[in-house]
Amino acid sequence: MIYPWQQNQWTSLLVRVKQKKLPHALFFSGAEGIGKLDFAREFANYLLCNKPIDNTACQRCNGCLLFIAGSHPDVSIVAPLENKKQIGVDQIRELGVFLSLTAQKAKQKVVIVEQADRMNNNAVNGLLKNLEEPSGPTVMMLLSHRLQALPATLVSRCQVMPFPQPELKVATQWLSAQGNLELEPEVLLSLTHRAPLNALKMSRSSDLTARSDRFRDFVALIEQQNDPIKLAVSWVKCSQVQLFIGLQSWLSDMIKLKTTADLRFISNIDLVDPLQKISAKIGIQTLFKSYDLTSESLRLTETQANSVLVLETLLIHLSCMRAR
Ligand SMILES: [Zn+2]
Repeated sequence: MIYPWQQNQWTSLLVRVKQKKLPHALFFSGAEGIGKLDFAREFANYLLCNKPIDNTACQRCNGCLLFIAGSHPDVSIVAPLENKKQIGVDQIRELGVFLSLTAQKAKQKVVIVEQADRMNNNAVNGLLKNLEEPSGPTVMMLLSHRLQALPATLVSRCQVMPFPQPELKVATQWLSAQGNLELEPEVLLSLTHRAPLNALKMSRSSDLTARSDRFRDFVALIEQQNDPIKLAVSWVKCSQVQLFIGLQSWLSDMIKLKTTADLRFISNIDLVDPLQKISAKIGIQTLFKSYDLTSESLRLTETQANSVLVLETLLIHLSCMRAR
């Protein structure tokens, strides 16, 4: 599926296909949740289609039907395995075997590497080797929202195609058209840094209820109506990464509300009033310190640190913010 905000990238790739100037390695770089994978799949489908209509895959030919069924022999999609954080060298070795074969049905083979930044060093080296020795016509698409996390040796061998965040108007229109949203589209887009797919996912998951429950607890904590130790016991059950990112965004908005009247930079635009009210009672230095401590707690989630202790320390600090 091509989203309305991806039209330029689509046109530019199609021009290259028609001029027979499509590079064999493409790098789609852009934020999470803006639809890079859907775009890559659509382009793969187009390349494997036997007779595209109006610059899109026909959805009817043998190539399209095989692709839709997930059984086209000339496409390979590599992604971190379930429950694994990394793309391992074994997966890249398998890819090497796929690349050494000639295309069976289509004019070329197509490879998609999702979350390419999750390749470990050995996997990157293996992929570099594959890129140096392409066997037969192949189009490889690497996808990542962390271009800077990949070695320059790899990125320099690909044609980088940026996928910027959509314009607010375009994203709002698209999101509104999806229907059944639990918050205003502008609020959802603001909370997800204008990533429409993440905004939609957020609206349809239990995340929003959890967020409002946590915000209520947060306000009560600052008003000293909530026991930090008891709250830590309850909050330790939820995703710590999500929790600390949420706290960071509230604290950062509180800092912004104290320093500027411009609401364009506020993420939690549905919470401006309560955030303004509590931030008025807290000094700016305390807010900065609390923000730093929350960032440190977030960093500790990647270590073996005891999560209850980390959370207790942070919540005790937050519960005393007004007194400082
Ligand atoms: Zn087709």
